[in-house]
Amino acid sequence: MAEMFYDDDADLSVIQGRKVAVIGYGSQGHAHALNLRDSGVDVRIGLRDGSTSKEKAENEGLRVVPVADAVKEADVVVILAPDQVQRTLYTEEIEPNLQEGAALVFGHGFNIRYDYIKPKSDSDVLMVAPKGPGHIVRREYVDGRGVPVLLAVEQDASGKAWDLAKSYAKAIGGLRAGGIKTTFTEETETDLFGEQSVLCGGASQLIQYGFETLTEAGYQPEVAYFECLHELKLIVDLMIEGGIAKQRWSISDTAEYGDYVSGPRVIDPHVKENMQAVLKDIQDGTFAKRFIDDQDAGAPEFKAFREKGAQHPIEKTGKELRGLMSWLKDNDTDTDYVEGS
Ligand code: NDP
Ligand code: MG
Ligand code: MG
Repeated sequence: MAEMFYDDDADLSVIQGRKVAVIGYGSQGHAHALNLRDSGVDVRIGLRDGSTSKEKAENEGLRVVPVADAVKEADVVVILAPDQVQRTLYTEEIEPNLQEGAALVFGHGFNIRYDYIKPKSDSDVLMVAPKGPGHIVRREYVDGRGVPVLLAVEQDASGKAWDLAKSYAKAIGGLRAGGIKTTFTEETETDLFGEQSVLCGGASQLIQYGFETLTEAGYQPEVAYFECLHELKLIVDLMIEGGIAKQRWSISDTAEYGDYVSGPRVIDPHVKENMQAVLKDIQDGTFAKRFIDDQDAGAPEFKAFREKGAQHPIEKTGKELRGLMSWLKDNDTDTDYVEGS
């Protein structure tokens, strides 16, 4: 059984006694910063000149300073800029300004796991990785709950890095839900695998194929949208509550029988072999190199994929239908994604 941590296992005063710089104020950055502040932690935000997130942070009453200044002031530096910019940000702005013995905190292990960042030997290097999007990390905290977190220590220069990691995780609300002890390697490889094979890549492709199959056979796109996309959330909610078993218990016997007969026909053993190949590319660094090389070249491949995804007919149908569902409009307050950010 994995080692788990809860609120009682952590001492909030450890992080309350430090000066924290959160670098980046995006999905995770805003959630960590606001949750830390509301837990009584001294926080400043480091952003580059002309940052579009500056105003958002200042509207919350947070102090925003240039990255170099935030790093100079702090003895805990939290790196929550996008993974692909962290390497340059670290060598150019963070490392030259880092206090001796300052701790580095990551929200994902990518740059450490693939050696894009090589920390100094006097830094504690730790990870507190929420297992959910930043906007949910903030929403759950405000509602008195939390999103589960993974905790890891890559380098324990002070001998007290675990106390700091647990204290930090408690301050962002993660230990209300529970923290699991892991390593940078395990977090990075499983996170990439999960998002590529199941959660994002796998689910998106499954939905698109389902929608295409129905519409190409002449069924109405609106009906196909409900069957292949909208209802997925309702099914997944049941899985979260009680596993696949509860989902099968709740659906009709017809649906459950169809699940057994057709699930393995659609997702056949080749899919598992494909997943193993994806995992291998993650483990040997092939995926990381492809992502970073493309980003360094101005992200031509990434932009082309994004454009193609946005053109899929399911997006047009979905946009029209969601416009008619008032309860979804109420919930959809984080609309930055419309601009593709
Ligand atoms: P975002 O893309 O949301 O981060 C955007 C923020 O980073 C903005 O404030 C942006 O400022 C700033 N930024 C971008 N480029 C630079 C730069 N060159 N210098 C300084 N600041 C910059 O990131 P995420 O929150 O998605 O990811 C942050 C980390 O958290 C990653 O390691 C990721 O893997 C991890 N993570 C993310 C999750 C998520 O929910 N998104 C889930 C779990 C982990 P500007 O206005 O200047 O562009
Ligand atoms: Mg993930
Ligand atoms: Mg991820």
